[in-house]
Amino acid sequence: MQLDNASLEQLREWESQLATQYQAILAQKLNLDLTRGKPSAEQLSLSDALDGILAGNYTAADGTDTRNYGGLDGLPEAKQLGANIMDVDAGNVLVGGNSSLTLMFQVMLAAYQFGLKDAASAWKHEGEVKFICPVPGYDRHYTVCEQLGIKMITVPMTSTGPDMDAVEALVKSDTSIKGMWCVPKYSNPTGVVYSDETVERIAKLGLLASANFRVFWDNAYSVHDLIDNAPKLANILEATRRHGTEDSVVQFASTSKITHAGSGVAFVAASAANLAGIKKFLNTCTIGPDKVNQIRHTRFLPSKEALTAHMTKHAALLNPRFEAVLSALSKAFDGTDLGAWEKPVGGYFVSFDTRRGCAKETVRLAAEAGVKLTPAGATYPYGKDPEDRNIRIAPSVPTVPEVIGAMEVFVTCVKLASVRNAITQQA
Ligand code: PMP
Repeated sequence: MQLDNASLEQLREWESQLATQYQAILAQKLNLDLTRGKPSAEQLSLSDALDGILAGNYTAADGTDTRNYGGLDGLPEAKQLGANIMDVDAGNVLVGGNSSLTLMFQVMLAAYQFGLKDAASAWKHEGEVKFICPVPGYDRHYTVCEQLGIKMITVPMTSTGPDMDAVEALVKSDTSIKGMWCVPKYSNPTGVVYSDETVERIAKLGLLASANFRVFWDNAYSVHDLIDNAPKLANILEATRRHGTEDSVVQFASTSKITHAGSGVAFVAASAANLAGIKKFLNTCTIGPDKVNQIRHTRFLPSKEALTAHMTKHAALLNPRFEAVLSALSKAFDGTDLGAWEKPVGGYFVSFDTRRGCAKETVRLAAEAGVKLTPAGATYPYGKDPEDRNIRIAPSVPTVPEVIGAMEVFVTCVKLASVRNAITQQA
């Protein structure tokens, strides 16, 4: 199916065939859900040994009684777990509570209100504050900016990461830009891994940008590979050290999609100066994080090897679901002009771009047919996808037959929305 050169007559014929197929789907009264980027119950069960793993032994390697208050920056062995996940030195890691999103919000708030370096470095002194958001991206990042009144400036995501020409031009020309969101490995939602060149250029942004510029490097999917020889993300901390820009990047990760999503452990990795600023802020928020959960996690995942073996079990559950999505898209759309997508080899999402102006209608048609999709626009700041093209597909929770069924509906809805849109353009 090629819509660009199709005659009106041909489009009308396709529309009639697709409408019949769609009616047949409606009659099935399906109830399927591709919205949620969270682990399935089977995946969560992989970590059930966490429960009771301490068997009464609450003492950390350094003798800390983990049941008590204190330890603002985390147990040494928990820092090592974070270091294993983020590929940094344990000395650069701070261990928080259960959510990296909370840490991202807290670091953003600290940078805005109190300054990570000192009071004078607080972004609030600089009038309007802007953040670069590669799009499509993660909606909860946008909510953090929105809550703090930080204006979001979009740049396109490419298959190698954010469009770095656009990013560099922005930071050079606009001193109110104070940072940038990045999901560098298996980005949410496009699933791309930033290339070595992209990582290098991001590490150098600190040389081009105005003072107190911070990249928020949300490495939520750093060990979430679906294949054995997974692409390797270049080490941003080492790159910033080479360029003398260590303070310009703050990294985040968590075990949310490694162990139990709601009761994992979250981490920050940053320069000594940034860690000091973050700790100063956290010291007013808490007497210390949940160290019992930290030590449970370190006993469950005591080494890099244990972590890798554990993630292989997740991959075995996720792989057939991703295959179901990708093969349905290939079968329906290879060689057509109906859509574009990446083929992620890790993470939680497949991101599909429809033809211009067709995403909302596709999501609406799918919803009517009993297949819930993330609302179109959610992957853009303020919920507005200017070209109305992007749809995020999250296949982790449904069973494989459910994913296959939902994708049959999805491709029919994309085709129907596209053909109807093309008819309107021609009529
Ligand atoms: N960052 C990204 C890119 C995510 O996709 C998610 C989960 N959807 C999170 C952060 C949330 O992480 P946490 O559970 O550690 O708050």
